Amino acid sequence: MRKPIIAGNWKMHKTIGEALELANGLKRELCDIEVVDIVVCPGFTLLEEVGEVILESNIKLGAQNAHWEIQGAFTGEVSVQQLKDLEVKYAIIGHSERRQFFGETNEAVNKRVKAVLKAGLIPIMCVGENLAERESNKIFKVIEEHVRCGLKEIEKEEVYKVVIAYEPVWAIGTGKTATPQQAQEVHNFIRSQLSKLYDDNTAQTVRIQYGGSVKPDNIVDLMSEKDIDGALVGGASLDVKSFAAIVKGSIFKKG
Ligand code: PEP
Repeated sequence: MRKPIIAGNWKMHKTIGEALELANGLKRELCDIEVVDIVVCPGFTLLEEVGEVILESNIKLGAQNAHWEIQGAFTGEVSVQQLKDLEVKYAIIGHSERRQFFGETNEAVNKRVKAVLKAGLIPIMCVGENLAERESNKIFKVIEEHVRCGLKEIEKEEVYKVVIAYEPVWAIGTGKTATPQQAQEVHNFIRSQLSKLYDDNTAQTVRIQYGGSVKPDNIVDLMSEKDIDGALVGGASLDVKSFAAIVKGSIFKKG
């Protein structure tokens, strides 16, 4: 039985004051939920203060990136050690905005995922096709490549810790959600790839989130699909009410 995981990606939003308000509100609303792993991923400048608010609560801290070297001349990057210092437990790796706007390659994603695992943190590795790739029937080719390259040289004994986020790029921040059936089809494909790369048991253990315009009113339908284990939420994670409603909705399945 895979435990649902809902993560909020705050992207480049919120000042410290706003972030504290959001973190306090979420702590209040969600303090009694133990059946879902809840993660918030604020920007780097907010990690310390948000971390203090949620310390020892059921809400865990995540970062939006992590470099593969422990330290060095990598201006603008952040190391896993620096993140561990702040009690960060998760790191989003290979988000489509990093791939699209900052030239993130599959090779870099793989190095980051390996470094995050080595440090004892949990990577949330994002995969997903853009609109042109969907329209030209390249979805499965793209996803296969993202999964295989992103997990290169990661052993079976480690891979079960990785969370994969399937985020169709055309659904991120656009208000267009993949239908639950479209999402399920790709989640199922990702699981079949994990079976090929590892084995059936491993494939059934890895958690796969959906991301792309997840809202309180579509979370239950998404979670009702057999291979959807949670959500990576952008816009709707910036508001206490909507993120709390998504977390609470993720507990329910139809049928
Ligand atoms: C995201 O940032 O990963 C995301 C899915 O954004 P949104 O929920 O706003 O589409």
